[in-house]
Amino acid sequence: MILDKKGRRFRNLRVSLTAACNYACTYCVPDRKRLQPARNELSTEELIRGVQYLMQTAGIDRVRITGGEPLLSKKFEPFLKEVMRLPLKDVSLTTNGQFLKDKSAAIIDSGIKRINVSLDTINPLRFRQIARSGDLATVLEGIDCMLDAGILVKINTVPMRTQNGSELLPLLDYCLQRNMEIRFIELMRMGHLNHSNDFQANYMSMETILGIFAQKYEFERTSAPHDSTSVRFEIPGKGVFGIIANESEPFCSACTRLRLSSSGYLYGCLSSGNRHYIADLLDKPAHMALPHLQRLLVKSLADKQDYSFRGEVTVMKFIGG
Ligand code: SAM
Repeated sequence: MILDKKGRRFRNLRVSLTAACNYACTYCVPDRKRLQPARNELSTEELIRGVQYLMQTAGIDRVRITGGEPLLSKKFEPFLKEVMRLPLKDVSLTTNGQFLKDKSAAIIDSGIKRINVSLDTINPLRFRQIARSGDLATVLEGIDCMLDAGILVKINTVPMRTQNGSELLPLLDYCLQRNMEIRFIELMRMGHLNHSNDFQANYMSMETILGIFAQKYEFERTSAPHDSTSVRFEIPGKGVFGIIANESEPFCSACTRLRLSSSGYLYGCLSSGNRHYIADLLDKPAHMALPHLQRLLVKSLADKQDYSFRGEVTVMKFIGG
């Protein structure tokens, strides 16, 4: 097990199946850009071997499948099937939900217990403005399909003052009615937002978000797991919501996340441009690959910020949010 001076270790691995996405959300993608797959994407076999090697070296016991948009990738079904066979404590998925209904058989058959769907509004017009693609009704059908199958669904929302700032209460109500936990992710200074006025114009702090909900609900702070990134609140008798308060209440000192990109790089921190190439280790037998991987993991862990997220030009789509 690799530990740093703060006692941090890697436990949660996010595996990006592809950098391609069918959406071009305003906070993720600069204007007029389309997200394409990397030229040298890892195969399903390499991704699975990557997960296995990281379980052995870093002690990874939780995997989240992400992207880009993971459901766009041909590797989605075979990867899901294989990763579910590994002795992990948890496997989850983050998706924009557009293809949830199409892929529902594979998802349900895999035995996965929980998924996260990114949803920034339940207003169809706003939806198109933010995602610059897609169809809200199809996403909502996909969510219902998952709930009907007994899969736990959490909703992730990025609040942005000028885009969905007035839509947060309807979204919270939508989730409370369906017994789904919603987490509001404070806007992060990633990619094009790192040096742009858009960040200042759109960032909404935890205090601001709570102020909006206080207009309708009484709530109290409730417990969250030690390495959770979310500050959780309970509305008695109604449900729970969370805020991933990157700026208001940074969680770097308890971060256990490691990311593997679709082109074979490890990222130890969202707020660091450093990355470590491991694709060339994935066709080697364990006795040759693991010592080298161990050294790269020490470097990846050293990339973590001490205290708070500082912004980074790295684009979320490459490394999975
Ligand atoms: N396509 C999948 C999805 O939509 O969930 C997975 C990839 S997406 C990059 C993962 C998450 O990152 C989404 O919940 C998205 O809202 C979040 N995200 C992307 N850019 C962000 C930013 N600048 N600030 C906060 N969250 C961001």
